[in-house]
Amino acid sequence: MKRIYMDNNATTAVRPEVLEAMLPYFREHFGNPSSVHWAGRAVSPAVEKAREQVAKLINCSAAEIVFISCGSEGDNHAIKGTAESLKDKGNHIITTTVEHPAVLHTCKALEKQGFEVTYLPVDKDGMLDLDALEKAITDKTILISIMWANNETGNIFPVEQIGAIAKKHKVRFHTDAVQAVGKIPVDVQAAGVDLLVLSGHKIGAPKGVGALYIRRGTKLTPLIHGGHQERNRRAGTHNVPSIVGLGVACELAGAEQAEHYARIKALRDRLEKGIFDQVPEVKLNGHPELRLPNTLNVSFAYIEGESLLLNFDMKGIAASSGSACTSGSLEPSHVMGAMCVDVVLAHSSTRFSLGADNTQEDVDYVLEVLPPIVQRLREMSPLYNRGGKPLTCDECQIVRRV
Ligand SMILES: *Cc1c(COP(=O)(O)O)cnc(C)c1O
Repeated sequence: MKRIYMDNNATTAVRPEVLEAMLPYFREHFGNPSSVHWAGRAVSPAVEKAREQVAKLINCSAAEIVFISCGSEGDNHAIKGTAESLKDKGNHIITTTVEHPAVLHTCKALEKQGFEVTYLPVDKDGMLDLDALEKAITDKTILISIMWANNETGNIFPVEQIGAIAKKHKVRFHTDAVQAVGKIPVDVQAAGVDLLVLSGHKIGAPKGVGALYIRRGTKLTPLIHGGHQERNRRAGTHNVPSIVGLGVACELAGAEQAEHYARIKALRDRLEKGIFDQVPEVKLNGHPELRLPNTLNVSFAYIEGESLLLNFDMKGIAASSGSACTSGSLEPSHVMGAMCVDVVLAHSSTRFSLGADNTQEDVDYVLEVLPPIVQRLREMSPLYNRGGKPLTCDECQIVRRV
């Protein structure tokens, strides 16, 4: 059976060049980079080289990069660390309703400790109102945490304008750039970002490694206390092979980005156009233009995203509905909810996130198998037979239980 992977916003395959670069650090170069002897000395330059590679991709200096275990850790570190270090200054945080759970649930946890959080809404295209952001700032605001690009819709937020607003009001700005890095240019200077998070497994490095950019001079309480690694910013023995892999992935991403952007966008646009041409009653979720080049999120009215995914899976196609972190729950995605997509459409939202390995044949295969699947599921759907009249939430619950 064909296997087509279009779920690259959930994770990516490790790139062969990345794996090759990592292997010696599993085999002969096993030392602890904090050790002064030969075994440590053999690996510490590799960690520092990776730090340079990551820094170059986002235009900062190597000393501002801290290696972490994953994007979620970085978001926790940035937000909880800021809350702890600036709590004497204020207790107010501004974020959005469409952040990744690593940000949303961290903010929720802080609310239990007495912090106040403003969750900015988005419009029907999933975009923010920057006036609302500026109005939300008070003299107690210590942090603005807004993602660079959304994992579900691919929407790109205007980070440079957000950074300017943050600067004007002297508020710290954290951005979860896990989806942006490697797909679009990310420049922490131009964007006026103080804290930025990226994750290896979204850009062809392994799972379990990431980086946190901390602008020089930013006071940030560590999340993990212990040894003196990472200039006391993050304790724990370095995950040397993964750090080496992350460095190579960042270098490749930087070198290939422009070409990659054009190629992926052409494939995504072909998929998008094909779906809209062939399938009636489809809705695009997200902004038509201000979107990552690889992401397509669409709702196929009247059917369940989950049943669509299972049918795709039977044809070898891997896509996703909602984010992988919420699959397993029957609630529609919080991002779709925030965009006021009606319940029927929210339940049928499906995300295709393309990657470097996808080809035009992959897209054409999806376009061949998708329309009949949608048609068959619609014919089975109790919603479809209602003639398109939107269901209320209650009705939707009843339909689901049957
Ligand atoms: C995947 C993702 C994360 C979490 O990164 P992990 O390395 O899996 O912890 C955070 N934010 C966004 C936007 C993501 O897509």
